[in-house]
This record gives sequence, structure tokens and C-alpha cells, in this order.
Amino acid sequence: MFTPILEGKPYAHSVGKLVCVGRNYAEHAREMKAELPTEPVLFIKPADAACGIGERIFIPKDRGAVHHELEIAVLIGERLVNASEAEAAQAIAGVGLGLDLTLRDLQDQLKAKSLPWERSKAFDGASPLTAFVAVERVSDWQQLSFSLMRNGQLQQKGDSAAMIFPVLSLLATISQNFTLNPGDVVLTGTPAGAGPVVAGDSLSLKLENWISVTTQVV
Ligand code: ZN
Repeated sequence: MFTPILEGKPYAHSVGKLVCVGRNYAEHAREMKAELPTEPVLFIKPADAACGIGERIFIPKDRGAVHHELEIAVLIGERLVNASEAEAAQAIAGVGLGLDLTLRDLQDQLKAKSLPWERSKAFDGASPLTAFVAVERVSDWQQLSFSLMRNGQLQQKGDSAAMIFPVLSLLATISQNFTLNPGDVVLTGTPAGAGPVVAGDSLSLKLENWISVTTQVV
């Protein structure tokens, strides 16, 4: 069970599930040689995939390449079922960053067989999350910039302005497919630059001037 931190305090709800969005940035879809989606590509990770980004994060061993995907994470504060965008906006508790860690070799094998991705993306600890800041800080969901440095090198630089499906429209669509509950987290897709992480790496994640965290990969 993982309880997110919101503005420095444990949130009232633990993470129930993570709803993730695939191919929400055109450049990342291109680097994955995937077609641009006409509706959001959604998948779910169970609660045990969530963990905190502290001094260390842990990656699976001996299971092929592990890739980082840095994503804006939205912490849900109220139940959302068949919601409008306006209702979705009212139901958000906070914003942070998450890693959608992916066993890329395994995912490629699963994709080649047209099998579900869960084994490659939904394992325990597959989504380390930063602390969240309160939603009140966000004046425009489509103007959030974020970045990931790996061993001091800029690896991913994203801006939510480049999302194919904007945050509020994603939440509305998700809520028409799966109920979102308080404590659930939505990972909104990764920009270009997803790449390998190995034990010993140092990763630094940044969102606006709100969140800045460095962690060691173990
Ligand atoms: Zn992702």
C-alpha cells in the first residue's frame, strides 16, 4: 500500500490504481514507431506498482532493458464516473511526476504476440511517484514543463502543451471507461527521450519550480 505525499503531508487516501496513457506525445509515438492514436490509449497498473521516489528507486534485475518514461502524474481527490471536463477539474487533488518504468525487451515481445503489456509495465514498484503539490498551483494544465536528467545529462524534456489529449479531456475519457477514486493516480503519457536506466544511475526529475528530486537507481 502506498500513500502519496501532498504538500508535505500523507494524503488521506492510498493509491488504489494507476491509469496510464500511452502515446500521448507525437514525438514519443514516432520514436516507438507507433501510429498516432485517434482516442487515448489507456492501461491500468495495480496499487502495488506505486511507490515513492526517495533517495533510491529499485528496478527489476535480469529481465532485460528497463526504460524510464517520465510523466505528469495527476492525483485524484474525488470519485469520477462519466465526468465532464469541468467535473474532472474539480476532482483533482494534486500534480506531481511519475516514472512509468517499462521492461522494454519484454514489452516488445508481448507486442509482437499481440499480448497485454502488464508484465512489462505493471510489476511491483513500476511507477515511482514524486510528492504532489496542490492543484491550486496549476493555472493551466497545458502549460506545465518537466524534465528528467540521467547522470547529469538531459534525457527527457516535456511540455504538456504538446499532449495529443489534454489532461482534463483525458480524465473525462478515463472516467467514462473506469471509475476514478480518491487516491488513484493518472499518468498522462511520456514525451520523447524515453530510454534505458541501469543500477547506479542518478535520476533528477523536475516539474516547473515546484518539484525537484534526485534519486539513485538500485
Ligand atoms: Zn508511459
